Amino acid sequence: MSGRLAQSIAIPSKSGPGPDLTAQLADTIPDHLWSAAPDGRIIYINRSMQEYFGGTLDELAGGEFGWRPYNHQGDYETVSTKWRQCLATGAQFDSEHRLLRSDGQYRWFRVCARAVRGENGHISAWHGQSSDIEGQKHADLELQSRTAELSMLVDMVPSNLWRLTPEGITTLVNKRMADFLGLKVLDQSSLETVMDTIFHPDDAASVGSELERCLATGDSFAMRYRLLRADGMYRWMSGRAEPMRDPDGHIVQWFGLCHDIHDQVQAEEGLRRTAEKLAQATQAANLAELSASIAHEVNQPLAAIAADADSCSRWLCVDPPNLERAKLAADRITTAAVSAGDVVRRIRALFQHISQPRTLENANVLVNEVCRLMTDEIVASSVRITTDLDPDPPPIAIDRVQVQQVLVNLIRNGIQAMGNMGEGGRSLHLRSSRDGSDAVRIEIRDAGTGFSDIDRVFEPFFTTKKNGMGMGLTICRSIIEAHGGQFWMRNNESNGATVAFTLPIDPGRLHGTG
Ligand code: ADP
Repeated sequence: MSGRLAQSIAIPSKSGPGPDLTAQLADTIPDHLWSAAPDGRIIYINRSMQEYFGGTLDELAGGEFGWRPYNHQGDYETVSTKWRQCLATGAQFDSEHRLLRSDGQYRWFRVCARAVRGENGHISAWHGQSSDIEGQKHADLELQSRTAELSMLVDMVPSNLWRLTPEGITTLVNKRMADFLGLKVLDQSSLETVMDTIFHPDDAASVGSELERCLATGDSFAMRYRLLRADGMYRWMSGRAEPMRDPDGHIVQWFGLCHDIHDQVQAEEGLRRTAEKLAQATQAANLAELSASIAHEVNQPLAAIAADADSCSRWLCVDPPNLERAKLAADRITTAAVSAGDVVRRIRALFQHISQPRTLENANVLVNEVCRLMTDEIVASSVRITTDLDPDPPPIAIDRVQVQQVLVNLIRNGIQAMGNMGEGGRSLHLRSSRDGSDAVRIEIRDAGTGFSDIDRVFEPFFTTKKNGMGMGLTICRSIIEAHGGQFWMRNNESNGATVAFTLPIDPGRLHGTG
């Protein structure tokens, strides 16, 4: 073999190593070394190559070694075309392809060959070298597939991705963002021009200055802004960007992403508008409730004044005039007018957030007073009043006018509930008693229709009466609860209804000091 090598390879012997050394070198080197005649016929292969293919040149195809059986089917056409071109032109051969090893395995090689020319300039031989690049090829393929996978990921991720230089120049946008912006070609200059025009005019300045600040400080960027979509519509985006730093901490580039939050922003806006409308509606409802409550409170004494004025004039018109009764009616007018004044004063106080002073009162006195105030109404409606009052009720600290109004309202409701009863059955029973150790209870029991829809009586404006306002019980309950008491009602087992409330005993008395 070495003899053939010495013949085949023209190696300078004066200054370089001798033929033995050269042969030794050629057979020791792990790369494949080979020589070919000017027509491409292989005339020499070194030992590494023999070992790889599994025989000497003579043993392999009887000395007629050709590349074809050792080339991978998928590479052969390209490689042989290139080789033939080189043979024809004398150009350097350079190729990466797979060669069949004696164990049947293909491995990747980088194969290079150069022509040697004689003094006459004609090609006298080709010398080639084939290096096993299987490992490197795998690494390259791996890298390629990972790069492809990554770029696919960047394009497929359901968000818009972009990259900036540390100076803020956009150098990359992913496909999704390019599609959003309507960019066909993603070259640098088209990116730069587009980036200047995609922000909504109202957002451009703030985005620009925030981005500038982040680029200068290295702070993360996070903002909401509108971007111009390819179809000319601005969409709300949530954008974020983070700097990427080298091991020394210098920013090398910025990576950002922005995702479309337009629908979410619109939903939020819709929600905000609905909440505003709701607040307005609630305000209006509160106002309506308040107006109804004021009207209700003022109406009571006004109705009493009208009724008393009427009876006063009737007592004056009889012959002879009944001055005593007329005076009583006139006195009640005065009391009711004072009561109306009180109501107005309290409403004004309510708006000025002044709480009314509470006075110590006797529940029985209060009940009797209200009955006296309502005498005409009671007489006119032929209602018999019976009472069962605690002989020694403890004092209660109350807003006298308010609690009187509660009683008036409840007695009137009871009278009205018995409107359709036969006259003999119209009876109203008023009772005061202790409720546990710390409260006084007052009950108004009638023999009327009973509550037809007891669960709804506290709904604002719920009324079964033609001219009812449906606020009385709601107001009564809030007055009692404001006093720290409880308010409830039930239908009686036999007939009619009972409405009751408690009021806490004066705390001083409770502790034995009152
Ligand atoms: P209004 O008297 O203006 O209707 P209220 O809030 O005082 O408003 O009463 C609400 C409703 O509760 C009445 O319309 C009536 O149907 C019912 N109600 C109140 N008191 C009685 C009662 N003593 N017996 C039967 N139903 C009553």
